[in-house]
Amino acid sequence: MTDVLNQLFIGGAWVDAADGATMPVDDPATGEILCHVADAGPKDAKLAEEAAVQAQQDWARTAPRARSEILRRAYELILERTDELAHLMTSEMGKPLAEARGEVAYAAEFFRWFSEEAVRIDGGCGTLPDGRNRMLLSRRPVGPCLLITPWNFPLAMGTRKIGPAIAAGCTMILKPAPQTPLSSLALAGILKEAGLPDGVLNVVTTSRAGEVCEPLLRGGRIRKLSFTGSTGVGRILLAQCADTVVRTSMELGGNAPFIVFDDADLDVAVDGAMVAKMRNMGEACTAANRFFVHRSVADEFGRRLAERMRALVVGPGTRDGVDVGPLIDRTGRGKVEELVADAVERGARVLVGGRTPEGPGCFYPPTVLTDVSPESRLMDTEIFGPVAAILTFDDEDEVLRRANDTPWGLVGYVFTQGLDRGLRVSEGLEVGMVGLNTGLVSNPAAPFGGVKQSGLGREGGQVGIDEFLEYQYVAVPVR
Ligand code: NAP
Repeated sequence: MTDVLNQLFIGGAWVDAADGATMPVDDPATGEILCHVADAGPKDAKLAEEAAVQAQQDWARTAPRARSEILRRAYELILERTDELAHLMTSEMGKPLAEARGEVAYAAEFFRWFSEEAVRIDGGCGTLPDGRNRMLLSRRPVGPCLLITPWNFPLAMGTRKIGPAIAAGCTMILKPAPQTPLSSLALAGILKEAGLPDGVLNVVTTSRAGEVCEPLLRGGRIRKLSFTGSTGVGRILLAQCADTVVRTSMELGGNAPFIVFDDADLDVAVDGAMVAKMRNMGEACTAANRFFVHRSVADEFGRRLAERMRALVVGPGTRDGVDVGPLIDRTGRGKVEELVADAVERGARVLVGGRTPEGPGCFYPPTVLTDVSPESRLMDTEIFGPVAAILTFDDEDEVLRRANDTPWGLVGYVFTQGLDRGLRVSEGLEVGMVGLNTGLVSNPAAPFGGVKQSGLGREGGQVGIDEFLEYQYVAVPVR
């Protein structure tokens, strides 16, 4: 890989790290090094911060229509380059090309959505109840932001933050995950081409996340953190934000229940399970983690799911016909292996998969476990791999209680043909999102986010831009 963008993007220029450091980017399908990118340190972070701070005032004054049109142009450029971006994503992250193309479309849609929202930032004017003052209400950008993204959706996690930040008039520093920096750098190139002014977006790739981000969060000039990643890291960052009262949006981990009632259409439930479990090889915060299936249909559901999983083709994501690519790295795969071994030790039966293949790359086969013990570690750990763990239940109250018995609350899935039951159970789930007879909830026009330890705030939808705006109220006496 020679022609990829591999430097830092600061103040509109491509630059090396101040100390010249670089870091490798691996191909998870082969374990080989794809290329090297700049490895930023605290000095580079300071330069990026300075660029974002300097650009903030002019950017906030830029006409909403101008901001909107930059996003719209970038949306079109992303779509024009779908194949190029999909190949880049597959090579650094592993997902099959068809899924990578799907992510490119999903990622682009955040720019289209927020190009439309940029020109709809509202305000207000009215008389206060005592009649003595008028109230002028306006909304303004929160200020320079730090955006931190994970590796599992290398492009979409960036556009879901950059889109609303640009629309709102904020400048920003993006720190992508070190496993997948190339998609973010390509995105920066596209935004530059689309006319984004220098300094509005700065991209800092680094293997030293803590050293780079902590001074920014504690320094007092960054006014907002938008983070997507694990709950553990989220907690550390929330603590760092406390001292200078930095505003936060946190999209954290999940532990999604997938509930199949005895009156469910099993074809629909199995289709839903294939999406909720296998999208992104199971490496999604929305991945179904605990399958609760009514005792009377559990054997049939398990049999049909195992059949569909067995038919999936595992291999390098760039190869035609492949459904399941490699996991992100050996650490990620090791965790999946341990969770499966623990479940089996506690009595789970393996219907399909469960064995790591020989050879290079971080592959793991689609796996279905049944008779899983509630004490298994995978019940309270994100599996982040292609493993469906099935438990049985007998009644509605019991399954709701068990589904909610977790500190996380991102998403839940419910399969039933009963409308009343579907709504009752959806409303009873302590989650930010529910798929009712569907395994896919993500959509740029819908507010994405969780409750409990799955996060704070929402991304996408009409409320997505609110995370980057604050209110100002001006009191004007009536004379
Ligand atoms: P992670 O380990 O929490 O890392 C996420 C990002 O945070 C990476 O860029 C990482 O860089 C950075 N980071 C780690 N420690 C940091 C620190 N001390 N200061 C600043 N940045 C730091 O998560 P991951 O393994 O990449 O992603 C998987 C997790 O993300 C899962 O828990 C998944 O559920 C969650 N996720 C949530 C959503 C959602 O919308 N709710 C969406 C996608 C993923 P380094 O790798 O260099 O540490």
